[in-house]
Amino acid sequence: MRVETCLRFLFCLIFYQLHYNEGSKAVVTIGVLLQELASQINIPLNSTIYKKNMFDQRAYFSTKILKVSPSDNFEASQTLCTLLDSDLGVVAVYSDSSRTTPILESTCTFFEVPFITTSWKAPSPAKRNPEEVRAMINFFPEAELFAKGLAEIVRSLQWPSFIIIYENEEGLIRMQEILKLQEINPDSKKNNIVVMQLGPGPDYRPLLKKIHNTTEDNIILDCEVDKILPILTQANSVGMLGLHNRYFITSLDAHTLDFSNLNTTANITTIRLHDPKSDDFLNTVHRWELTEFENHNRRVPLDPYSIKTETVLFHDAILLLTDTVNAMTIKPGINIKPLACNGTETSDDGFTLRKYMLINTPSMTLTGPLKFNDEGGRTDFNIHVVDIIDDSVIATWHAGNESMELHRNYNQTFDAAVSNLQKITVIVASKIGEPYLMLRQPSYEGEILTGNNRYEGYSMDLIAGIAKFIGFNFQFEITDKYGNYDYKEKRWNGLIGELLEKRAHLAVCDFTITPERREVVDFSMPFMTLGIAILHKSQTEKPIDMFKFLEPFSTRVWLYTGTLYLVISIVLFFISRLTPGDWENPHPCEDDPEELENIWDIKNSLWLTLGSIMTQGCDILPKGISSRMAVGMWWFFSLIMTSSYTANLAAFLTKANLEPAIDSAEALSKQTKIKYGLVKGGSTESFFRNSNFSTYQRMWLSIQQTKPSVYEDSNADGVLRVQTTKLAQYAFLMESTQIEYEIETKCDLKQIGEKLDSKSYGIAMPMNSPYRSAINKAVLVMQESGELGDLKTKWWKTKRKEASCDNQKSGEEEDANKLGIANLGGVFLVLGVGIAMACVFALIEFLWNCRNISVEEHITYKQAFMLELKFACNILITKKRVKPLLSEEGSSQQSDKSAENKNGNKSIINSILHSAGSNLNIVN
Ligand code: GLU
Repeated sequence: MRVETCLRFLFCLIFYQLHYNEGSKAVVTIGVLLQELASQINIPLNSTIYKKNMFDQRAYFSTKILKVSPSDNFEASQTLCTLLDSDLGVVAVYSDSSRTTPILESTCTFFEVPFITTSWKAPSPAKRNPEEVRAMINFFPEAELFAKGLAEIVRSLQWPSFIIIYENEEGLIRMQEILKLQEINPDSKKNNIVVMQLGPGPDYRPLLKKIHNTTEDNIILDCEVDKILPILTQANSVGMLGLHNRYFITSLDAHTLDFSNLNTTANITTIRLHDPKSDDFLNTVHRWELTEFENHNRRVPLDPYSIKTETVLFHDAILLLTDTVNAMTIKPGINIKPLACNGTETSDDGFTLRKYMLINTPSMTLTGPLKFNDEGGRTDFNIHVVDIIDDSVIATWHAGNESMELHRNYNQTFDAAVSNLQKITVIVASKIGEPYLMLRQPSYEGEILTGNNRYEGYSMDLIAGIAKFIGFNFQFEITDKYGNYDYKEKRWNGLIGELLEKRAHLAVCDFTITPERREVVDFSMPFMTLGIAILHKSQTEKPIDMFKFLEPFSTRVWLYTGTLYLVISIVLFFISRLTPGDWENPHPCEDDPEELENIWDIKNSLWLTLGSIMTQGCDILPKGISSRMAVGMWWFFSLIMTSSYTANLAAFLTKANLEPAIDSAEALSKQTKIKYGLVKGGSTESFFRNSNFSTYQRMWLSIQQTKPSVYEDSNADGVLRVQTTKLAQYAFLMESTQIEYEIETKCDLKQIGEKLDSKSYGIAMPMNSPYRSAINKAVLVMQESGELGDLKTKWWKTKRKEASCDNQKSGEEEDANKLGIANLGGVFLVLGVGIAMACVFALIEFLWNCRNISVEEHITYKQAFMLELKFACNILITKKRVKPLLSEEGSSQQSDKSAENKNGNKSIINSILHSAGSNLNIVN
């Protein structure tokens, strides 16, 4: 109360001073043309004039305010004429009507009266004569420079693509520099800038739905301030005001709106030329309140945020005008007179005043630095970029040096993103697949699992850890595909589709970071590194190859050796017939034999060569020089062949046990027996499709062409196929972390060879997600604290229901080193067949011998057979007569046999029969 009394006293004193001195002051009238007389600009107008009149002795300011038509040029020019021709004339004219600006400006130019305005003015396409002086001084930023500033701001927002919604042609002119940000990239799947015109309204939903379908998140909105809230409210209703949506509103009056009712987590950025939170501004507003109080004796509280940019600009304009007029009253002086529109008289000092205004610096401005070009366009100003949600200035563009100054530091951006995340339930898209996400089994019968409780696994724990760190709630949603570009549908599917179509905020699973995916979504820092490897079946069931012992030599060598054996045997036979050394005396006691005999018939030759090559030797050897030479060479050949065979056989049999059928991708690609496949639509498929390496190209070709298809829908299906395909004839190209998981408990599986590449899994999120840094920080913290490592151990080892393979493997390996019947069966078979053949031959020989005996001894074949059989079966007899003795039974049937023979041979027969078997009943 006391302050108010003091202020009243102070004002009365000043008023007295003012009126006492009024007579000596020049009276300066400022002409004002307003579309609405009750305009907000009256506040700074009254206050500034009040202040100037009270504290400055040089001039006394008054105003003449007239209502002007906003669009009728004729009426507007008539009003201006009335103003110019008023009692004392006007020092300058201000108008808030932008449509009638051209006619008002040209009239003022004609009468050389400064014309002040504060609204956006399109750049004039016609070239001006530099000598020509115009009346205009526009406090609104110069159009081209303003457009440049907007473009720089958009560039600083780092939006890869965006849609511009403009209301009218003026808006499109403002966007001209932004349109130049269009990237000319022929490979690009779509234009990064799309321009759309706002319809007449009030229903903007059709346009917004159209935008929603394009999945574009970034929107530049250029429209009248009163349309901003209806548009955003409707955008909210079509789901375009979520965490990922970003708006840049180019209206300079957006700060006057209340966005709190939108209750949005979208990022809304706007611009201002002044700072409603600055001390200068708050003091000025307070002064305006005081003036209102003094003039009308009523308290009108003014909200700093309700002050429009036009009002603030007008404040600066009126300040510059009054400062300059005050300065001019002393020197060179100012002469103001009424001007008749139908006359030709012009203002005396109007253009001088304008010239001074262009170079003068006002005592204080609320819209930053003031500088004008010769045409009266404002060339120095600041554009503050403001985050509307927390009302913080994130950057400032300085027109003076055309530079961008960023104010928001990392921590502020981080905090803003975190607080937005905390406001919502984060939707996490994922895919079922062990051990990343599995369906949880109810812990007791009848338990009903809901929400996140339905799932468990590495991904769930990872997101739970991140959510705990940042402090948000989350909800898992399941999709069935990883995410690939579908060329037919012309859209991304799977997890990527969920992110692009804004159904999810995060996507997590064994989700590989690939360059193609990186083009459309963002990834967190990696939480796991891996590479593609080959999953195959351990060869416990080896293909049975009983004739493995034949492998040390090729078929050709076997054929050559066999042929050589026959040839050498025949050659030996002939040589030994030629060489005299091999013709021997059959009766060594007889010195002068009549005949010589040669033991080297074809049978013995074959036997000798066979004995040598089998390293067994032979009991008879040649004696002739040439035959010995031939045999010597054969022995040499046999030595080399048998040693080579022995050495090779050992190596082959060992190799058969220890080595896998394939040991690398290279080996896999060069064979056709073992088929190999991969998951359809995953990063492994993309790797082979895009690889330039010949081996992988070969593999890609084979994968595509193999029938039946080698593709699988999931890793689990691939693993099953590897396990169930007979003779390990299927290998699966899979990521190493998954292979590690599978071979932990599935002991019949193993990884083959090295990893083919190196890559990582990451958490995906929509492009330029504001919360990416927060997610990254959480992953980093979890990594450094060892939590990620613990999670891996938990889901790869500890939580496994099946026993680990580690303990079983050593025993299996030992067994694997032993040679099995599979490898040596052929040897047994050869022996068996050989012996069987020997038996058959023995039988044939025996039967043939029986036949000979029956012929020679004139007994029946049966008798001869029985005699020989009895003899052969009596294993105690080791000697055999040259001629067999006949039994009585046999002789009785031989009617022509002599009695002598009968008697003479009786004892022999007896002895034979006796030797044939003690159990035989001999009849005398
Ligand atoms: N991790 C892969 C992906 O994100 C899927 C599995 C694979 O392709 O092997 O696409």
